Amino acid sequence: MSGAGTNWAGNLRYGAARVHRPETLAELQELVAGADRVKVLGSRHCFNDIADTTGDLVVLDALRAEVDVERGEDGGLAWVPGGMRYSELVVGLAEHGYALANLASLPHITVVGATATGTHGSGGRNGTLSSSVAGLEIVRSDGELVTLTPDDSDFAGAVVHLGALGVVTRIGLRFQPTFDVRTTVYLGLTWDRLLADFDAVSDAAYSVSVFTDWHRITQVWVKSRTDEHAASPEDFFGARAATAPTHMLEGAPVESLTEQLGAPGAWHERLPHFRTGFTPSRGEELQSEYFVPRRHGRAAVGALRSLADRIAPLLQAGELRTVAADDLWLSPAQGTDVLALHFTWLPDEPAVRALLPEIEAALAPYGGRPHWGKLFTTSAGDLERLYPRLPEFRELVRRLDPRGAFRNDYLDRTVAAFG
Ligand SMILES: Cc1cc2nc3c(=O)[nH]c(=O)nc-3n(C[C@H](O)[C@H](O)[C@H](O)COP(=O)(O)OP(=O)(O)OC[C@H]3O[C@@H](n4cnc5c(N)ncnc54)[C@H](O)[C@@H]3O)c2cc1C
Repeated sequence: MSGAGTNWAGNLRYGAARVHRPETLAELQELVAGADRVKVLGSRHCFNDIADTTGDLVVLDALRAEVDVERGEDGGLAWVPGGMRYSELVVGLAEHGYALANLASLPHITVVGATATGTHGSGGRNGTLSSSVAGLEIVRSDGELVTLTPDDSDFAGAVVHLGALGVVTRIGLRFQPTFDVRTTVYLGLTWDRLLADFDAVSDAAYSVSVFTDWHRITQVWVKSRTDEHAASPEDFFGARAATAPTHMLEGAPVESLTEQLGAPGAWHERLPHFRTGFTPSRGEELQSEYFVPRRHGRAAVGALRSLADRIAPLLQAGELRTVAADDLWLSPAQGTDVLALHFTWLPDEPAVRALLPEIEAALAPYGGRPHWGKLFTTSAGDLERLYPRLPEFRELVRRLDPRGAFRNDYLDRTVAAFG
């Protein structure tokens, strides 16, 4: 049995023969160059085998380094160590008066692990977290350290890299001046009202999350910047403001949530749903997510509503979020604004896996791209249709890692770079 343990959800035991914690860059380079098969482990929050290997697993938490900041006119670039979590980064940025454009529902994840899979938050004007990346330092499988910047032709292909290109030792993130946010949860939004005012609801604030069990809309989380015009605090498209903190998962402890009830707070204490230091979400769960071009959002919602009786028995909560387009090859928002359709499942993997093909078939007419870090059953052929730049990414993998050291079963199923 491997000593590498399991992923966060506990549905995967990593199969690595050895786990390493290099303390210097030179030690890491030697390790990578000498390894037959090697992967980096971030914070283990993916629900599939994307980070798994049969060879050497590298954890970067002993490779300590400072965050280096390059200040610009109205923000700048932060160079972040390859093993750092958002929770460790955001406090220091905020203390210096800076902010990232957006965060995911949890700050517990590593910056590199999150941006490697196209992780996102919400907000029609906000891109994926990957779209804030403006530099990568990578140890390739030959042990060489290379730096990629947006001026390099490979850059747009290398940001959402699925762990396939090498070990990212530092990542550059764009930041901006700090801002404050208030979160209000609304109850009682109807499907009719959402579908009639879809764009107005989605764009009503900096970040909007619509929660559903697919029979009805259960909650809407509205996160407004205090320096921007806010939705009416009492009435939100006919929904009423909650008067007590509200969890999206029935019966889960509200202590784990960031503050609600319209209380203003710094960006990093409001944009995630879950607080550092607490178990995010439920803990006992699986997740899947699909992205459709925003113009197909209403039709895709209709297709999933027609499967509500199939989905609801396995579901803890569904969440709808919008994400702005980017040009990163494997980003779920590559080339188009998207609606993200998220599922927090009960921890019954066989039943979830049996249902996913039905969901994927229902979303196929709308081009439903799966989240790289969650459970999906989409075939390699379909992935290539959904992610049109995947063939170019395959070539990039072959160029940067010609000996296939970062290859694993996940990449063989999805990217299929090596025959
Ligand atoms: C409770 C919960 C809530 C979530 N909420 C959201 C959400 O709001 N939005 C969303 O989009 N996703 C969400 N996710 C999914 C999560 O953001 C992704 O799965 C993310 O990729 C996890 O990051 P990680 O650091 O745990 O990466 P890991 O799972 O550890 O690794 C992911 C990949 O990155 C690679 N990698 C990691 N570090 C490096 C490095 N330094 N160099 C090279 N490769 C590296 C790994 O090899 C692997 O291929 C959630 C997950 C959980 C468990």
